[in-house]
Amino acid sequence: MAKDYYGILGVDQQATDSEIKKAYRRLARKYHPDVNPSDEAAERFREISQAQEVLLDPNKRRMVDAGHDPLAEPQHGYGGGFGGGFGGGFDLGDLFGAFFEGQGETGPIPRVRRGEDSRMAFPISLAEAYTGVDKKITVDTAVICPDCDGSGSKTHQEPVTCQQCTGSGHVRATQRSFLGNMVTVAPCPACAETGQIIPDPCPTCESDGRVRSRRSMQVHIPAGVESGMRIRLQGNGEVGPGGGPAGDLYLHIQVADDPTFTRDNEHLLATVQMSIVDACLGTTVGLTLPDGSQETITVPAGTQPEDTVVVHGKGMPTMQREGERGDLIVRFVMKVPTELDSKTRKTLSQLRDRRGYEPAKVISREDSDNHLFTRIGNFFRGRNA
Ligand SMILES: [Zn+2]
Ligand SMILES: [Zn+2]
Repeated sequence: MAKDYYGILGVDQQATDSEIKKAYRRLARKYHPDVNPSDEAAERFREISQAQEVLLDPNKRRMVDAGHDPLAEPQHGYGGGFGGGFGGGFDLGDLFGAFFEGQGETGPIPRVRRGEDSRMAFPISLAEAYTGVDKKITVDTAVICPDCDGSGSKTHQEPVTCQQCTGSGHVRATQRSFLGNMVTVAPCPACAETGQIIPDPCPTCESDGRVRSRRSMQVHIPAGVESGMRIRLQGNGEVGPGGGPAGDLYLHIQVADDPTFTRDNEHLLATVQMSIVDACLGTTVGLTLPDGSQETITVPAGTQPEDTVVVHGKGMPTMQREGERGDLIVRFVMKVPTELDSKTRKTLSQLRDRRGYEPAKVISREDSDNHLFTRIGNFFRGRNA
């Protein structure tokens, strides 16, 4: 029968390695011999250390899950046991590293720290992505307190060492209990673990050196941006605790769908509709590009439905290669009139009666497939047939 290693750490059987380490650190803080010198605590500390060691070893954990105890049954050859002490592959360095990190015994935390990064959604139109755009944005963020210039002190005095924790950031308390003397280590309540006190605190920021404020700034969005890109504005995030350096602001670009153009990376796709007459005879059609400029598209005589033309260098700017643009790909569709006046009907009838007119017919599957795939292929490759 296996020991309940999961129960010892207070985690469930699905716990991840990091959850196991976290649970271990939480308990180690309570039972480590440096903190709690009682025999009872030493035994508990040994147990939780064993439990962590077993559960972080995939082979041993599999044995536990199968109902075996990897430490009680070393004769099964599953590779070493605990041997009743801190033996067998037990890494003391790791253990104490984790322990001290969790406890915060490394000293006070700095009073002045870097601020958080901020992020905001940044919706733009396709036209703005086509040309690039300068925009004014307003963010609600932490800024340097204007009343103390970030010092946290109304009279701009330097911080002094906290008397309560003598600068360590932590306070220890010894309590006598039936288990023996219990030593607890807690964050110093007077200095918020920083080991420093601000004399004559600023009432505006409560000595934090920063306040919340709305701030406006001008940002430049380069041409060619795509949805999902992030633009980093260094030092425009939140000002840190104690008036510390600001984090960065990230703009998350979202390019809206355009009513005319479909974007395919650096290419733009547009559709021109025409009558059968224009398809037969050829024509030109004006297309307004996203930047407002006019492009004349030539429809060659004999254009087939779903044919495409490629206008090189009129697509989206490429961000990788300065000054280059993708292509504009124009697809042609035909619209057949559903109502004809008598004169048009007569003209078309005469056309059908002419010699050389090709009547409707059934074509082979191969010809049919060629029609379909060539055109779909052409469209996506952006190559004219
Ligand atoms: Zn303190
Ligand atoms: Zn202030």
